[in-house]
Amino acid sequence: MILLNQVAFNRGTASILAGITLEVPPNQRTVLLGRSGSGKSTLLRLINRLLQTSSGSITFNQKPLAEIDPLTLRRSIGFVSQNLGLFPHWTARQQITRFHHHKDSVESLAASIGLDSTLLDRYPHQLSGGQQQRVAIARALASNPPLLMLDEPFSALDPILRREMQDLILALDKTIIFVTHDLREAMRLGHKLVFLRDGKIVFSGPPHELQSSNDTEVQAYLRTLNQ
Ligand code: ATP
Ligand code: MG
Repeated sequence: MILLNQVAFNRGTASILAGITLEVPPNQRTVLLGRSGSGKSTLLRLINRLLQTSSGSITFNQKPLAEIDPLTLRRSIGFVSQNLGLFPHWTARQQITRFHHHKDSVESLAASIGLDSTLLDRYPHQLSGGQQQRVAIARALASNPPLLMLDEPFSALDPILRREMQDLILALDKTIIFVTHDLREAMRLGHKLVFLRDGKIVFSGPPHELQSSNDTEVQAYLRTLNQ
């Protein structure tokens, strides 16, 4: 569905991403891993054209990104950014309704992700961090887009809810790019894991192959599983 070919992104003289060649296959979950600052969020921003590549190319369904109208592109992508991007003066219901093209009602969409309908008329500052995350996820699902990009979407959820939300993601029939720091979560959700280190891909493949990577950072992540 998405192909990145030798993508680089620089800020001034700093190289943020370099030599990124990656396929995001349709109807699969691709999970991005890597330490803080490794370039995961930047990669997502390049895919929805919030940022422009410095070199290399990205295609969406074989079409170069540059040839797709940015609004059309963003309508095809349900994006939950790391800072959620909720509008402070809109209630939860307004945030979700604004993008709603789903067969399910706003209430049932909210209920499906454990968001009680009594919370829908609150503003973001009246919701807990985990509740805000769920509003952002409901908003991303509301337009029923073929591609979902979720940047650490569950970081503020308690472990039980987190597990339930993972189950919800597993039940979706969509192409998903998911960022997490949690290797266990990555292993559970990912058809494909992509590990970034200093803006470069040091591993890309199915979860069971991660063990055989000899990258020291990948190894360090793997050790956290057994601690
Ligand atoms: P985290 O896990 O902490 O969210 P990340 O992998 O998502 O990290 P990015 O947000 O993609 O990392 O940032 C990659 C690098 O780009 C970092 O070194 C960051 O400091 C740098 N960076 C991000 N935004 C800017 C900016 N506006 N100006 C300069 N450097 C930036
Ligand atoms: Mg990030």
